[in-house]
Amino acid sequence: MRTHSLEESKGHVVNENLSPISSPSRVWTDIDLDAVGRFEGYFRVPHSTHDSCYGWIPIPFVSLKSRDDGPRVLLMAGNHGDEYEGQVMLHKLARSLELEDVLGQVIILPAANYPAVRAGRRTSPVDGGNMNRMFPGDPSGSPTQVIAHFIETVLVARADYVFDFHSGGSSSEYLPLAHVIDDGNPARSKRAREILEVFAMPISVIVEGLGDGGQGRLFGACQRAGDVVHMSTELGGGGTVSIDPLARAERGLARLLHHVGAVQRPLTEEAAPPTVFYRRPPARDFIYALWAGIFEPYVKLGDLVSAGQAAGAIHDPTAPWRPPHPVSFSDTGMVLSRRVPARVEIGDCLMNLGVPE
Ligand SMILES: [Zn+2]
Repeated sequence: MRTHSLEESKGHVVNENLSPISSPSRVWTDIDLDAVGRFEGYFRVPHSTHDSCYGWIPIPFVSLKSRDDGPRVLLMAGNHGDEYEGQVMLHKLARSLELEDVLGQVIILPAANYPAVRAGRRTSPVDGGNMNRMFPGDPSGSPTQVIAHFIETVLVARADYVFDFHSGGSSSEYLPLAHVIDDGNPARSKRAREILEVFAMPISVIVEGLGDGGQGRLFGACQRAGDVVHMSTELGGGGTVSIDPLARAERGLARLLHHVGAVQRPLTEEAAPPTVFYRRPPARDFIYALWAGIFEPYVKLGDLVSAGQAAGAIHDPTAPWRPPHPVSFSDTGMVLSRRVPARVEIGDCLMNLGVPE
């Protein structure tokens, strides 16, 4: 039985019954996730360090619950700490969403991997963890593993819908898009397509398989939990906040919450604008650097390219008299993302493609 100081929860709603969440997770909170009402506070990840022997890492969240039988939605950002559009969107929603509008439960988690968010990095500076490759996590592992395990076993386990807002991050930028991973189940594919049409980013992508089968990602957690609907995004990126994608995603999320029955009225007047569907086939869609140097792209985001076409060239700053190394596309499609830093090492991803449906 842990001890607890009311002082440390000052400013937050405190549940008098301070028992930890009933799961093998060591993450705890003084907020009862089953309680009806609006609650703000922290999931607390035990982290004993030289500077803080009994310390914890805070994962801020807001829970809005009106009743037991409505849809349960988990909204996440900060899975990668340097992807900012989703974080800002969820900050704004956490302040604006009214309990009276909620028909089930909405849990808002804008800084899922808080150490990475605080550092403005994709990965956690505490343990190097890339959370979206660490599911199902480990309750006895490093902080990122502990957080991933908590999200999977406690938050995803109690959700019907999981929407996870990513962007390109510091090292890449994307055309604004939303995507689902096609697991081959026709009913789920149909439902996922409807969700993409309602969220209505300019581009919707059906991802046809991932290198690791997606099992290390939040998508894998949703699959293991059963019939949890998962959607993710790439809302710009480049280590900044992209204005237009953010505004479009805010309206899309307002529509989406109404579409899944989580709120009782549309939170936007805007009807869903058109979205164009692309498929991202496995294996051939990523273009990589095979040499170190300075990458000069020949194409822009949104350009249509064909197999064999030159994508760019890598210049060698140690031998400027040598011709640059050519990079070419191995597939036909549209350029969905590009690397932002010009300096590249062998193995860096330069671009990826989508194929129009
Ligand atoms: Zn991400």
